[in-house]
Amino acid sequence: MDNSQRVVVVTGGSRGIGRAIALKFAEERPVIIIAHYDQDETFSDQTLAMLNEKGIRCESFKVDVSSKSAVETFFDSVLEKYGRVDTLINNAGITRDCLLMKMSERDWDLVLNINLKSIFNCTQTIIRSMIKNRRGTIVNIASVSGQIGVAGQANYSASKAGIMGFTKAVAREVASRGITVNAVAPGFIQTEMTDALPEKVVESYLQQIPLGRLGTVQDVSETVYWLCSESASYITGQIIHVNGGLYM
Ligand code: NAP
Repeated sequence: MDNSQRVVVVTGGSRGIGRAIALKFAEERPVIIIAHYDQDETFSDQTLAMLNEKGIRCESFKVDVSSKSAVETFFDSVLEKYGRVDTLINNAGITRDCLLMKMSERDWDLVLNINLKSIFNCTQTIIRSMIKNRRGTIVNIASVSGQIGVAGQANYSASKAGIMGFTKAVAREVASRGITVNAVAPGFIQTEMTDALPEKVVESYLQQIPLGRLGTVQDVSETVYWLCSESASYITGQIIHVNGGLYM
């Protein structure tokens, strides 16, 4: 491996926003490692094929990011093989929407564990190595839902609001070691996650978005990439809104 090549880990990199982030980083020819969880590897195989086509050294790992021990095993393998992680994008996330009155404890725990605990798991596991190297960039994918609160998303909104607090606290802890920690809070982005929503819901969101369109995965990936670039080296502990003005 060329020592000047950045080692980038993208959780949930198999599809949607995570795939777009991996493809954006590919422009600088780094090593890219994606983590995903589905038994069906179709999406992760597609992402690897896209990266391979660009001549990128890449690998995918099946790891449940909500499990601390699975995450530790994952990063042990990454460090053993590549020696370091320069950039961590904590992107994996799910929704289990339901009004609070009907929300099961299982769906509360599932969303909190996959969306929020995963960020604790991944960040805590790799931060020691970043501190040792005195460099690193971490971007956590939050959501406008954590800022405005969305009816039917008490679990999701809580997990995404938690990510923002986590981001700021850890940014303060590691800034002196040359590590930046930021969050990107996308608004309504067209992916499989939002394709599942009824047309009426999409229409009502569109009316509330000043820029008058849904976001694209590229809108998010461009911002994430910039936050991990030299141009953003004086930015840490920030929540960057990519939402067409839905929340200001
Ligand atoms: P998506 O298309 O549903 O992709 C979710 C990704 O997370 C997949 O790669 C999935 O892997 C992975 N994942 C799910 N559970 C996992 C687990 N336990 N361990 C490891 N990986 C797991 O979602 P998306 O729309 O791209 O969203 C990506 C992030 O952006 C999420 O954090 C989401 O909350 C956030 N976000 C999205 C929107 C939006 O409008 N789409 C808006 C705001 C924020 P598999 O392919 O293996 O299942």
